[in-house]
Amino acid sequence: MRILIVEDEVRLAATLQDLLELNGYTADVCHDGEAGLDNALTGIYDLIILDVMLPKKDGFTVLAQLRQAENATPVLMLTARSEVSDRVEGLDRGADYYLTKPFEPRELLACIRALTRRQPELHTADTLEFGDLTLDKSAFTLSCGGRSVRLSRKEFDMCELLMRNRQVVLTKETLLLKLWGYESDAEDNNVEVYISFLRKKLTHLRSQVRIKTIRMVGYCLEYESS
Ligand code: CA
Repeated sequence: MRILIVEDEVRLAATLQDLLELNGYTADVCHDGEAGLDNALTGIYDLIILDVMLPKKDGFTVLAQLRQAENATPVLMLTARSEVSDRVEGLDRGADYYLTKPFEPRELLACIRALTRRQPELHTADTLEFGDLTLDKSAFTLSCGGRSVRLSRKEFDMCELLMRNRQVVLTKETLLLKLWGYESDAEDNNVEVYISFLRKKLTHLRSQVRIKTIRMVGYCLEYESS
């Protein structure tokens, strides 16, 4: 699960990022409202943590523009101000939750769990199936028949994306953004490397599922039962 943190207090942003990553999330950071909005609009995030007081564009404006663009990503707003009017404004503009700084890490994590649970397609079960494959989201394993392999974090994330999107073609750019994020130096080549790791594992599992390459476009899963 990928979370975008839009927070101009650099130390707080870094602390949040560490906290989220320690708890199994992938987190990207932006330090101003404009960059935050641009990144949020990519649609690759499962949740956005948005500060109110931000340079270039304040959090309320970012939120309003995000919702105007029909982006429904859950938004958790953060602020140092605790006035009731701010809370009302945030909620009126489509924030899903409001947290006042300073807050307890436990409280933040509980909020994140609650907000991401609202998207039923993201958290319906511990397993995801496609063709003869079963991806176990708690054990990080991919199985087929009686065989099973453990996946690395990136392999798992890539496999999950491919399985969730079924026969949709995922471009290299989408995979790169979803798996490595905006700020990273990762290149198309990384996608190819992990696709080849996954293909080796599919072969090892003797799965009938193939990762099909659509030239110049991207990848999709294909299942041919014999
Ligand atoms: Ca701020």
